[in-house]
Amino acid sequence: MGETRHTKVLIIGSGPAGYTAAVYAARAMLNPILVQGMQPGGQLTITTEVENWPGDTHVQGPDLMVRMEAHAKAMGAEVITDIITALDLSKRPFVAQSDSGTVFTADAVILATGAQAKWLGLPSEEKFKGFGVSACATCDGFFYRGREIVVIGGGNTAVEEALFLTNFASKVTLIHRRDTLRAEKIMQDRLFKHPKIQMLWNHDVTEVVGTEAPLGVTGVRARNVQTGAEQIVPCEGFFVAIGHAPASELVKDQLPLHNGGYVKVEPGSTRTAIPGVFAAGDLTDHVYRQAVTSAGMGCMAALDAEKFLAE
Ligand code: FAD
Ligand code: NAP
Repeated sequence: MGETRHTKVLIIGSGPAGYTAAVYAARAMLNPILVQGMQPGGQLTITTEVENWPGDTHVQGPDLMVRMEAHAKAMGAEVITDIITALDLSKRPFVAQSDSGTVFTADAVILATGAQAKWLGLPSEEKFKGFGVSACATCDGFFYRGREIVVIGGGNTAVEEALFLTNFASKVTLIHRRDTLRAEKIMQDRLFKHPKIQMLWNHDVTEVVGTEAPLGVTGVRARNVQTGAEQIVPCEGFFVAIGHAPASELVKDQLPLHNGGYVKVEPGSTRTAIPGVFAAGDLTDHVYRQAVTSAGMGCMAALDAEKFLAE
């Protein structure tokens, strides 16, 4: 059993929502503790260029998150590298157990655990994960210099990943299950103009195929969703970019969730069903899912927590 630490405000998560909540809570003299989780800095640490963070026409995602962490610390927040493994919201103060053994007790909790990459759920995808199958172009693109790559998905992430991967690949095929993308138009323009990128519309992927020894990907089996016809698209790297699922595991049996696992909050606030527990960012938001909206909700959560503690 590790030490027990009490805080007025425990912030769980270190993406834009968590760090912004930390800045506001610290400036309200609430001495917040922020636990970073397994991905310090959150989802923006696995991207490159961010072009829609106000005030920066171009900023690298990881750099932005380093700045946010420094900002939270400079305002007086305590940032801890640890993971919350269990949370008991039935007790007052609330109790959070961490991976390192520390027990945090808190008068208010701000949940900012964000979202995680979704996978197709194919056995062959699982088999080749780390051996040609990835969900992070920034992390793994470098391994595919001069190789052919397939990306699946039709949102901003898929388009960004496909464009980024052209820095390494000889060819990138983007497979999408419909005939229109949901990515922003400016991103689509860049994609369609790129000489290394080829689209395969109205297809899904039914299998990742490859070699056993050494384990490696040689292609994906793509199925036309209209005709059922199948073809093998050769590639050595297969990047899954089909969206993200909210990281609501810690609270799934304690708070109402909706829209596939997102924590429900009172409209116009970050209040959850339990007074003193607030939720912000991608964990609660199935609509906007942006850094700036997450940061905005982080601010709201700190202000809501401050009001709750004052009352
Ligand atoms: P996240 O950034 O998801 O962070 C969640 C945090 O919670 C992480 O630090 C994690 O470690 C922590 N955590 C999870 N579980 C635990 C636990 N048990 N204990 C402790 N901590 C935990 N948005 C834009 O506005 N512009 C962009 O250009 C852009 N590009 C993107 C590119 C990619 C590849 C991706 C995937 C997303 C992009 N987004 C972009 C979306 C943006 O990253 C998210 O909207 C934003 O990061 C959400 O912030 P968040 O704080 O809610 O959560
Ligand atoms: P998303 O917008 O939810 O898109 C997921 C895509 O994957 C959709 O095109 C979807 O197809 C497809 N898909 C889902 N399940 C599939 C399956 N099982 N098989 C095949 N295809 C599947 O997710 P995202 O692209 O990760 O974006 C998440 C959020 O982050 C969005 O709000 C986005 O705007 C934001 N983001 C922003 C930026 C930026 O601003 N530059 C960059 C990255 C992400 P359908 O279209 O048919 O549903």
